[in-house]
Amino acid sequence: MTDCIFCKIIAGDINSVCLYEDEYVYAFKDINPQTPVHFLVIPKKHISSMNEVNAENSQIAAKCLEAIAKIAKDLKLEAGYRVISNCGADAGQTVFHLHFHVLAGRPLGEKLV
Ligand code: 5GP
Ligand code: ZN
Repeated sequence: MTDCIFCKIIAGDINSVCLYEDEYVYAFKDINPQTPVHFLVIPKKHISSMNEVNAENSQIAAKCLEAIAKIAKDLKLEAGYRVISNCGADAGQTVFHLHFHVLAGRPLGEKLV
């Protein structure tokens, strides 16, 4: 999608700090980190949000989860981390390209769930 910030990041039209990339997935540091470690894992195929995950594309979403586990091991996040995907306005989604926030680097305290 030409007007999607994250598609532009994948294409290299907007700079990002890449942590991991493969055929299906791109992972990069969040520009406005909420914790000492805060990165985003996104599918290279444009999927707007969790609402658009279905039987045809769930394999790609699963690739994101596989990548999270791999990156967490590489970054030695054995102390723990939190994975969040905001979906829709009430959840505060601002970029409508499916993404998983990975937050770590300090005790995350107050639990959302
Ligand atoms: P959302 O609020 O949609 O769940 O999260 C979007 C995230 O994307 C935010 O945490 C925001 O900081 C991050 N973000 C937005 N634009 C850019 C950008 O151009 N580069 C990077 N690295 N992160 C971005
Ligand atoms: Zn996109």
